[in-house]
Amino acid sequence: MLKNMIENKQLAQCCSMHVGGIASFYIEPSSQKELVEVIKYCQKHNTKYYIIGNGTNVIFKDSGYSGVIICTKKIKNISIKKDIVCAEMGAYLYTLNNYLIKSCLSGMEWSYGIPGTIGGAVCMNAGAYGGQMKDVVLKVKIFDGKRTRFLYNNELNFGYRDSIILQKNYVVLKVWLRLKPKTKNYVFELCKEYFLKRKTSQPLEYYNSGSIFKKCGEISSGKLIDNLGLKGAKIGGAEISTLHANFIINNGNATCQNILDLISFIKLEVKQKSGQDLQTEVIIVGD
Ligand SMILES: Cc1cc2nc3c(=O)[nH]c(=O)nc-3n(C[C@H](O)[C@H](O)[C@H](O)COP(=O)(O)OP(=O)(O)OC[C@H]3O[C@@H](n4cnc5c(N)ncnc54)[C@H](O)[C@@H]3O)c2cc1C
Repeated sequence: MLKNMIENKQLAQCCSMHVGGIASFYIEPSSQKELVEVIKYCQKHNTKYYIIGNGTNVIFKDSGYSGVIICTKKIKNISIKKDIVCAEMGAYLYTLNNYLIKSCLSGMEWSYGIPGTIGGAVCMNAGAYGGQMKDVVLKVKIFDGKRTRFLYNNELNFGYRDSIILQKNYVVLKVWLRLKPKTKNYVFELCKEYFLKRKTSQPLEYYNSGSIFKKCGEISSGKLIDNLGLKGAKIGGAEISTLHANFIINNGNATCQNILDLISFIKLEVKQKSGQDLQTEVIIVGD
């Protein structure tokens, strides 16, 4: 076993929904080099692994994970040169945005308040309020399972909440963003505006994973669910938020199964009553 590897990690502590069983192993590497060594160790020992940033778009199953969960949050250096920002994968979007305000750089304001890391954001092509990672990423340093290399924006296959990172299980090590110089006040005010929007429209006082379903064509999934009067529907400790119908909240006692059952219930209701097929945005991980 590697130094710093923890055995039998409670996965509820590793995702913002606060559900999940036990992972056989858990590790927080402290450098890009160490992260690659951990992956090579897993490959050598035929052990499966899963990378997480801040666990805000993953939900862990009650059955746990019989492999190694590798969390990137200790690898988080950020540097800025003119209009180019370079961030290691575990840097929080919140920290990054505060750097950007100080450096008078615009382009990421839409992400102010998203509780994830830059690595997770690139992988998911995170987006909000008309902005998305695709618009600002210049290039990414990845580990493809064999070697480290660089992928430029046009090689990243960005789609709606999708990228080549997700498709090919690559690992984001470092990200370069190209931003636009603006005044500090401009960047700050835009961040504040988007943050306030989030605070008033999302149930942030409860455990949650952000939007559960992807947008359904031109209609927001929240609207589809709300139109069916499903807000407040509960299964065990999982509930459709009364504030935002595309959020499921954990009242503190939910199991992952409660959440999965509620997701199935919503999908069925939406299919039967409006003929639409909802796709989950959140990623379910586990055995
Ligand atoms: C309250 C709330 C609001 C949210 N609002 C938004 C929003 O407005 N827009 C939006 O797009 N999302 C939103 N999200 C979802 C989530 O925060 C974003 O998708 C975020 O970018 C995920 O980052 P993370 O570090 O938590 O990733 P995780 O949840 O840890 O991982 C997500 C995926 O990325 C992969 N991954 C993570 N790091 C790496 C890496 N270094 N290399 C390769 N793969 C990696 C994981 O394997 C997994 O497949 C919200 C979530 C919450 C809880």
